[in-house]
Amino acid sequence: MDEFYTWTIKETAEALRSGKATPSDILESLCGRVRAVDSKLKAYVNFDESRSKKADFIKAKPLSGVPIAIKDNISTRGWETTCASKILKGYIPPYDATVVRKLKEAGAIIFAKCNMDEFAFGSSCETSCYGPTFNPWNTQCVPGGSSGGSAASVAADLAVGSLGSDTGGSIRQPAALCGVVGLKPTYGRVSRYGLIAFGSSLDQIGPFTKTVEDAAILLGVIAGHDPLDSTSAPADVPDYTQAVKKDVKGLRIGLPKEYFIKGIDPEVESAVRGAAKKLESLGAKIEEVSLPHTQYAVATYYIVATAEASSNLGRYDGVQYGLRVPSSDLVEMYMKTRCEGFGREAKRRVLLGTFVLSAGYYEAYYLKGLKVRTLIKQDFDKAFERLDVILAPTSPTPAFKVGERLDDPLAMYLSDIFTIPQNLAGIPAISIPCGFTKGGLPIGLQLMAKPFGEETLFRVAHAFERATDFHKKRPAI
Ligand code: GLN
Repeated sequence: MDEFYTWTIKETAEALRSGKATPSDILESLCGRVRAVDSKLKAYVNFDESRSKKADFIKAKPLSGVPIAIKDNISTRGWETTCASKILKGYIPPYDATVVRKLKEAGAIIFAKCNMDEFAFGSSCETSCYGPTFNPWNTQCVPGGSSGGSAASVAADLAVGSLGSDTGGSIRQPAALCGVVGLKPTYGRVSRYGLIAFGSSLDQIGPFTKTVEDAAILLGVIAGHDPLDSTSAPADVPDYTQAVKKDVKGLRIGLPKEYFIKGIDPEVESAVRGAAKKLESLGAKIEEVSLPHTQYAVATYYIVATAEASSNLGRYDGVQYGLRVPSSDLVEMYMKTRCEGFGREAKRRVLLGTFVLSAGYYEAYYLKGLKVRTLIKQDFDKAFERLDVILAPTSPTPAFKVGERLDDPLAMYLSDIFTIPQNLAGIPAISIPCGFTKGGLPIGLQLMAKPFGEETLFRVAHAFERATDFHKKRPAI
């Protein structure tokens, strides 16, 4: 028999409901796995076995007794939340993020906080003040980022499912590099209340899971309107688990020519094209599409995202939260706290963002960036007049070596070339496993849909998953 920790959310919840396993069986098995493996991966920055014992088990709840890990930028009441930054060390939120409250109400056990790039700035999970997380498929490689800990934990069976956040790819890219399912919902689908803000017009919280059906279950629990987040949409939450039952016959799937460009890893390209063929054989119609403003997405993102980040990071002044470097002079105290508290990448973002918002440059950069953002969104609007889904690689390369891009910000920024446009447009996108390189690293397939089209994503992703077995492979860690 399988160890309990290898189970999916669905299997775990069913076993608990039928009495085949108790919550402590599941938790003990999982905690044993964490103790045995996490010293090699460093997926968790905070891990609390005792939390399991406090959880009540109520049979009627959808996630009763299911252990879920949470990215460390999502507020947990009474439990340190640091965004993997020295400046927030010791910060204990006085409230739960809405997603945390919803998970708890559904019976889930939140037992660990996941490592991440500092303030979610990065694509490799290396800028954390706790040090890097490693990829379970090859510990010389990065897990992707910024939600690297959330992705690695699910890939290595250290959590049944987890939550991350995605501002420009931070769920989908690490999901691809770790061989798990990762979904960025439509902007407004999931409340951002209690998510420590990076780029407020781009950020969304979403699930990491072992299967597509599990992602549908988890999204169903965390989605919905929240009066505490004025940008959350007042739209009903459908039963996403029904969507996975449908087939793909007659669905129109577009392959954007701007996403199959020179420089993309040939093994990634062939796996993704193979996935399109597979969906065609299942009855979908495949056609080429053009999203002509794609080439401007990375530049636009690094204007909009850094502008918002520099403004959001203004609140860390040594007075209200976490770290304070004392000084008899107030301004000097601010300066010393921010100099010591922020890492290199966070400082780079604050400088860039402050620059593009400053007098004289605001029109030239920030306002222009907003205009190009609209053009990028219009590309998608137009494509979805005809198409149900757009299919592309999630990341241009498989997992790269630890340290390889750390001193080259541009190379790091280009890791997200295929995952940034969806945040600028606010549309949902999912990454699912679609193959492996000869070296044994996972490859991710990205599917996008129009706003609130998550059901279509689940439908297509699940049809692919049913017809393949990439999601069944587990790293030998
Ligand atoms: N890698 C991108 C960045 O560094 C996206 C990060 C994210 O989605 N949080 O900004």
